[in-house]
Amino acid sequence: MIGGSPAAHGTVHLVGAGPGDPGLLTLRAATLLSTCSFVAYDRLVEAATLTLIPPTAERTQVGKDAGGGWSQQDVNQLLVSAARAGHAVVRLKGGDPYVFGRGTEEVAACVAAGLPVEVVPGASSAVAGPAAAGIPVTHRGVAAGFAVVTGHEDPADPGSQLDHGVLAAFPGTLVFLMGLRAVGRIAAGLLAHGRPPDTPVAVVASATTDRQEVLEADLASVADAVERSGLRGPATIVVGDVVRLRSLARTLAAAAATA
Ligand code: SAH
Repeated sequence: MIGGSPAAHGTVHLVGAGPGDPGLLTLRAATLLSTCSFVAYDRLVEAATLTLIPPTAERTQVGKDAGGGWSQQDVNQLLVSAARAGHAVVRLKGGDPYVFGRGTEEVAACVAAGLPVEVVPGASSAVAGPAAAGIPVTHRGVAAGFAVVTGHEDPADPGSQLDHGVLAAFPGTLVFLMGLRAVGRIAAGLLAHGRPPDTPVAVVASATTDRQEVLEADLASVADAVERSGLRGPATIVVGDVVRLRSLARTLAAAAATA
């Protein structure tokens, strides 16, 4: 389902909200938000983004905080029952719905219930987070690729266990999401498998919001630096020489501003 039609009743629109700043929503996302009648949104969606929702629409936060909250099954059920009740449903997810967003499970639940589903991509914090800090994830001659990896090793999901040897050998930028608490373990694993201690690392927190903070360190020092800084998530961790380009980006921006 592609196109400019407003939110269709009985349809579930799985919408990426981008990394934070509502200015980074897609036009499709903004249109759907302003024409829907029911929104289920993630904890990480910014309050400013929610102002686009019509006051008449029902809205529910379906956060899955560490302390409990909504199970995936409850979220699936909520979407299905809202669409069956005839709502134009927006399921608003941080970043892109298919990057660590469990979007597939929600699509599957809607399809199984016979409901039409639309997926609207969003700017993922995996790329937009570094960019907002002035860090390109690729750069000719520096990094010919990037890997986006979960930093959250879920004991119930064997696929989420990090193979530090494979990651250390990856010839490009490593981007870790959900990795702030595990940053010490990630750095130690990469060091143990041969990545040089002075490999640059950046931690970009609350990217594109007015709370954005960037911490620069290297693999040897990042765990201590994060602990000392008291930095809070959500945060994206970038490992690789592209982090050095941040100062280049700043120099170019300053030169452009004075030109
Ligand atoms: N679907 C999302 C990712 C969901 S996992 C996307 O595509 O962006 C949640 C993780 O995303 C957080 O733990 C953090 O690593 C990252 N993240 C989300 N918003 C962020 C932000 N504004 N700044 C930095 N990282 C962010």
